[in-house]
Amino acid sequence: MDECVERRRAVVAFDMDGTLLNGRLVFALADRCNVREQVISIMSDTSMYGYEKSSAIARLWKGLSKDDVLEALSSIELSNNAKETVDALKRDGYTVGIISDSYDVAVEHLASILNMDFGIANRLVYDSSAILTGELVMPLGWERIGCRCMNSVCKRFHLESIVNVLGIGMDRTVAVGDSDNDICMLEQASISITYKPKSLAVRGKAMYIIDDLYDLVSILSTATAE
Ligand SMILES: [Zn+2]
Repeated sequence: MDECVERRRAVVAFDMDGTLLNGRLVFALADRCNVREQVISIMSDTSMYGYEKSSAIARLWKGLSKDDVLEALSSIELSNNAKETVDALKRDGYTVGIISDSYDVAVEHLASILNMDFGIANRLVYDSSAILTGELVMPLGWERIGCRCMNSVCKRFHLESIVNVLGIGMDRTVAVGDSDNDICMLEQASISITYKPKSLAVRGKAMYIIDDLYDLVSILSTATAE
């Protein structure tokens, strides 16, 4: 009985780009605006912190509409078994959501179609005609807990915030990601999983490395049975 209660209250936080999605929204947007080289150049600029990169990339979307962002999102396939995995976790009683350094409109849409419980992301700013201004409201969080990530969304801070709201401990957390910006959340979660890791650094931070999202279901059923 106690185990059921604990399982019902555990949190699974997914990254979006490259994890739930088989692609990255910024590249889908870049291709629509013909600025892929600029996005790559910003992403690979070692003189900029993560949050500065997010801010610089968002400026490229000035003039787009919310529908442009949603259309770009719809051009990216879900990762294989993403929906089946989320459905199974929800059925097993987990609180499931997305912590992403992508954009609110996309994360909320994806969280909605996957019937997830929460979505945290950067907020795109619109003018009075519902056109993007190029500004970004970044949740940050690293400055409050001394996290070294310095990303626009400190995934560790926001995972800890969700846990606090639910009144549970970090020992009831699962983090799933694929990239360096997921590392601070993977380091802190009780169970850390990388899906198709994009770097050696992120590969080295996870307890489990998977190529099929559905492997999560068996990993968690084993882990919670112990
Ligand atoms: Zn962080």
